[in-house]
Amino acid sequence: MKTGKRQFNIAICGMGGMGNWHRETIGKIPDLHLVGSFDVKPERQKFAEEHGVRAYESWQALLDDPSVDIVTIATPNDLHRPLAIQALHAGKNVVVEKPAALDEAEFKAMADVAEATGMLLTVHQNRRWDDDYRTAKAVYESDVIGPVFRIESRVLGSRGIPGDWRQLPEKGGGMILDWGVHLLDQMLQMVKEPVRTVYATVDHVTNELVDDGFYADLSFASGLLAHVEVGTSHFVGKPRWGVYGRDGSAEIDWGSKGRIVCVTDRSKQDAVPIVTAAGLTKTMAPRTADTIKTLPLPPVKADILDYYRNVMDAIDGLAPIEVKVPEVLRVLRLMETIKRSAETGRVLPFES
Ligand code: NAD
Repeated sequence: MKTGKRQFNIAICGMGGMGNWHRETIGKIPDLHLVGSFDVKPERQKFAEEHGVRAYESWQALLDDPSVDIVTIATPNDLHRPLAIQALHAGKNVVVEKPAALDEAEFKAMADVAEATGMLLTVHQNRRWDDDYRTAKAVYESDVIGPVFRIESRVLGSRGIPGDWRQLPEKGGGMILDWGVHLLDQMLQMVKEPVRTVYATVDHVTNELVDDGFYADLSFASGLLAHVEVGTSHFVGKPRWGVYGRDGSAEIDWGSKGRIVCVTDRSKQDAVPIVTAAGLTKTMAPRTADTIKTLPLPPVKADILDYYRNVMDAIDGLAPIEVKVPEVLRVLRLMETIKRSAETGRVLPFES
């Protein structure tokens, strides 16, 4: 993708868990040079230096370094807006971690500054490069299971909300903003249709202040229904993805493990009934082997290094940016609608 027109210098703000992930990832891209980082915690400044990264003495010192082309912001969510706006005003291109901001209005303010300064602003929606997502998308876009009527996307953990700031509303905590933003972004990238209605509920199993899980049902213009779910108190899991079509179903788990089962002869309805003490059913009994076939999932491989390669190409004017401002605004608006639906208990309209 990158044609090697020029090299870029990048600095990281926030050298926590994800800041360190960026450090490692940037280190794998030859044209991208990590020139330093800044973190308010002295121990994370020390961590950077121990890993051969210059720790700027202040955020201002980082912004004042004219050699820095790109700043990646990997701080708690409430700081994305002010830090991104400062970096844009300092003439830096900005990669901000997800969620881009706490709501649509905040991100709109950031995008306005990017436009006024002419700098690039994009968001680290890295899970667009996840193999499981790419596989689900490939199944959806193929005709292997016939017209798709339902997609389920879920992540279910059992450890509650991790860390400290993620538990606090004022820091942008909660699972809608944490994992929901990934799953909703993926769904809107996959199904290229207006979302007509939204119905959602939120969980407060282990945290009263912020949601520790949610589910949202999105109905698209064609009638396709998407079920998006995040849970943190689930001790029994479910597959990461379910994609259901008229002629077959696909089950896709982390690492793109899974299968497709398609009907081969719909006319054969013989089945060994499921019998319980209270009754019997043929309708819900498994199909006999002679009426179905199992297919492997399509092979899909994505390279996460393409994320930063695309950022560099976009700055160079060689390619459009992958994660675009209007897409980010749409997901933020959807998350606000999900919260409102859960608060009111109502199905809400979203796009006409
Ligand atoms: P973290 O708590 O591990 O790290 C945050 C760091 O920011 C801390 O070291 C903290 O000291 C530092 N910090 C706080 N205020 C600062 C300031 N004003 N200037 C500089 N540094 C400051 O959190 P994390 O898990 O690394 O999450 C950071 C961001 O990355 C969040 O927005 C989160 O949603 C995002 N994230 C994204 C992914 C992904 O897959 N895209 C995964 C995890 C986290």
